[in-house]
Amino acid sequence: MNSKSTNEGGIEGIYAGREKRETEPKIVLAFDVGATNIRASVVQVGKEGADILSREQAQTPIGDASKLLALLVQMSSKLKLAAQKNGLTPVAVGVAFAGHFSVIEPGYLTFAGNMGLHQVNLQDPLEQELRVPTHFINDVSAAAYAEAHDRKIESLATIFVGTGIGLGFIKDGQIVENTGDDSALTVVRGHNIFKSGGAPCPLGCDGCFQSYLGGKALGLRAQAAGVASDADGLLKAWRAGDQQARIIIEEAFDAMRALVKRIEVEFKPEKIAIGGTVIKNFPELMVVASEVATVSESKVGDDAPLIGAALIGAGL
Ligand SMILES: [Zn+2]
Repeated sequence: MNSKSTNEGGIEGIYAGREKRETEPKIVLAFDVGATNIRASVVQVGKEGADILSREQAQTPIGDASKLLALLVQMSSKLKLAAQKNGLTPVAVGVAFAGHFSVIEPGYLTFAGNMGLHQVNLQDPLEQELRVPTHFINDVSAAAYAEAHDRKIESLATIFVGTGIGLGFIKDGQIVENTGDDSALTVVRGHNIFKSGGAPCPLGCDGCFQSYLGGKALGLRAQAAGVASDADGLLKAWRAGDQQARIIIEEAFDAMRALVKRIEVEFKPEKIAIGGTVIKNFPELMVVASEVATVSESKVGDDAPLIGAALIGAGL
């Protein structure tokens, strides 16, 4: 638009105004609820992207849904107040949550192992308290959504290697929700079996991808082999040439190649984005992943679940 021009003012002014209304950014309260911390933000979202305006953080209460909901309400009030001071009114809430949700009943948590919660409706009570449309979504799905939105593509898979393995899938611009059980959709899961009867997994699916790749599992394997007490120690020992560490690391490489290959074959994403805390310290995992498919590093980074939750909350 040529703002200097005055003689075509009328019509251009109307169009400018209409355009502005259609793409008017929305103010959303976004949460990223993990097993350790809850991160919350006021986010301004529009077609072009998302801006985090303010942040709050608290420790996650474990094994108590009502305590958790009360804390979310409390954090919402603080954020709302901060937004209102700047003349902004949140119109929706998006919650990225480290758990799996029913595909039939929105916001019904089926399972969140690390938080000691299962079979509980979180969305309805929170929506009743906050009185704005509220959406709960699996955190890795939210992160995948943010990655796809940022890249302006409709088909994407994400692999987050942190304490465990998180996988998220976007198809035709929509989240392919993973309910966390085997009867679910035909997407690949971190607990799919890599080596039958292999390394132990706390969920009983011994030999799953997570038990060879997750940060916690790598630490436990290092302990069992007497190499180190955690994943960072394992990496240090491997870099120093330790033979036991090498065996564990090479199995992690094999698991990564197999996981990426399975995603490539079964889901055929346009892009595979890889991120997570373990990847930061262990970039060699990216290198082996790139041997079997076109992968790239997560672009949105640590805020991806928060941004994804905000976009979904805003209906974008
Ligand atoms: Zn498992």
